[in-house]
Amino acid sequence: MIGRSWTEISLDTIKKNYLTYMDGMPDGQKIMAVVKADAYGHGDVKVALMLQKEGCENFAVSNFEEAKKLRISGVMGQILILGYTPVDLAQDLAKYDITQALISTEYAQDLFVRAELSGVDAKSIKTQFAIDTGMNRIGLDADDEVPCESAIRQYAEIFNMTGIFTHLAVADMPEEDVFTNAQISKFEKIAERVKDLELPYVHCNNTAAGLWHNTFGNLTRLGISLYGLKPDYNNTLPADIKPALTWKSVIAMVKDVRPGETVGYGRTYKIDRPRRVATIPTGYADGYSRHLSSVGMVVVNGQKAPVAGRVCMDQIMIDITDVPEVTAGMEVELIGPDYGADEMAHDIGTIGYEIVCDISARVERTYI
Ligand SMILES: *Cc1c(COP(=O)(O)O)cnc(C)c1O
Repeated sequence: MIGRSWTEISLDTIKKNYLTYMDGMPDGQKIMAVVKADAYGHGDVKVALMLQKEGCENFAVSNFEEAKKLRISGVMGQILILGYTPVDLAQDLAKYDITQALISTEYAQDLFVRAELSGVDAKSIKTQFAIDTGMNRIGLDADDEVPCESAIRQYAEIFNMTGIFTHLAVADMPEEDVFTNAQISKFEKIAERVKDLELPYVHCNNTAAGLWHNTFGNLTRLGISLYGLKPDYNNTLPADIKPALTWKSVIAMVKDVRPGETVGYGRTYKIDRPRRVATIPTGYADGYSRHLSSVGMVVVNGQKAPVAGRVCMDQIMIDITDVPEVTAGMEVELIGPDYGADEMAHDIGTIGYEIVCDISARVERTYI
């Protein structure tokens, strides 16, 4: 297929990444597939249903809408919302059997009150308490062990509490191991204090933690490497883990540009000698970052061609002077084996996560 701008997603690659990662995990640990943000741009329902077939029973998302979409699409296992949900949705959490993270005692209390007001038995709402071990984002402060323990106990009485979890801030940075290990041991301490509650899920790993740390708990919340990308540019993933997404577009037209002329908005790309420029119908409204202006690369005929001047809303121009035989209608790779999302991210000072999450709904997802 040659469209305007589309991604080709290999579910088979995601499956292999899942199985490869699972192979390396200690006995008793399971994967919780993190499919928030439309599975990092890869299509949440497609990815979750495929993983379900492979035996995956645990999924994590960022909000209620994502959770509900999965549930009504046939995802049967645990669906955990990792962050905030308006307490107005208490009834719906119960109705769709969705597990809500409790982000603070205040939040837990509000959710309880709202459940009561809407005539929902709080015991029919599944929850997991978030524990803050150093990220300072959400959760009970693990440093205050006594109040932390009593909040877990209090709300385990009220809700159907199925677990506790924490999130690691620097698990992708080997030089920060001391901090990561301290986070893990704070979490272990809290888990130990509430051991008698026999909460089924106790978890702290993300991709990076599961790969490079002594693991604790019984779930790894696997996000980025499921999609074959690295937590950090400096990381090396196991060899069998491969990117699952390619982003393609097409050459809309080719033209020769004379010395003295400029290309694009702001006239930032100045032509010094006779050059050839190709226009591609993908721009920042498609999620092709404007930071790639005169920085990014597009692969044409297996060769990298630089973005010429500023990224427009719907189009970019690339300099193909050094790439032979480029014609209108040819397919190009914006993200692919020769210029990956991690590399693109590195070129503009961000992370692969942001690159794939930003590919907008306007870009058609195709599956190969
Ligand atoms: C997004 C997220 C993850 C997944 O992290 P990766 O680095 O993509 O594996 C795990 N846990 C929480 C709480 C998250 O928000």
